[in-house]
Amino acid sequence: MPVTRDLLLATRNPHKLREFGRLLEPAGIEVGSLPAHVDLPPEDGATFAENALPKARTAAAATGRLSIADDSGLEADALGGAPGVRSARYAGPGASDQANLDKLMREVPAGSPLRYVCVIAYVDPRTGEEHLFRGESLGSRAATARGSRGFGYDPGFVPEGVPGRTMGELSDREKDAISHRGRAVRALLEWLDARKP
Ligand code: IMP
Repeated sequence: MPVTRDLLLATRNPHKLREFGRLLEPAGIEVGSLPAHVDLPPEDGATFAENALPKARTAAAATGRLSIADDSGLEADALGGAPGVRSARYAGPGASDQANLDKLMREVPAGSPLRYVCVIAYVDPRTGEEHLFRGESLGSRAATARGSRGFGYDPGFVPEGVPGRTMGELSDREKDAISHRGRAVRALLEWLDARKP
């Protein structure tokens, strides 16, 4: 069991809060949500790490608590790795998940390779310690968008090893076992475990 019992998650995305909660709470880690007064920095970095770290640093500095933040997105081979760090605003600033998914389905051919990436930044405000953890999930563009579970691009993503079903059709447990976020969280948990006194 990790020594850390409480981590603040620097996000305003309710889907991420839910996924992190169900991934960390079984390990005995309570996931705290970001206080309303804390403003997160803009996501203008060129890499997932460049976006995740400032969010975790901001939350840690504002609250004095151990903080984590993730930056995640989808990379399409057919688009040279786009939308990548721009996944949330692929169809334009403030675009809905549906608009982003529709654009992906228009621009990427069925069966073409896709990769979900998640980078988690961990910041300890007392020691200044910072760590990054990365998880990936490989798949391909679905023939048609299907499934109402998950969020974002999940209805258009067929994970490797799960033929015929999209991420949007998987149960929470199935998604967590193979998702980019599930893998990044397990890397974080292994690291926390290894630091036990
Ligand atoms: P950000 O990490 O807040 O920049 O947002 C990442 C964007 O990538 C989300 O708005 C989604 O569009 C997409 N994304 C990240 N993780 C997932 C996932 O697990 N399922 C579906 N879409 C995701």
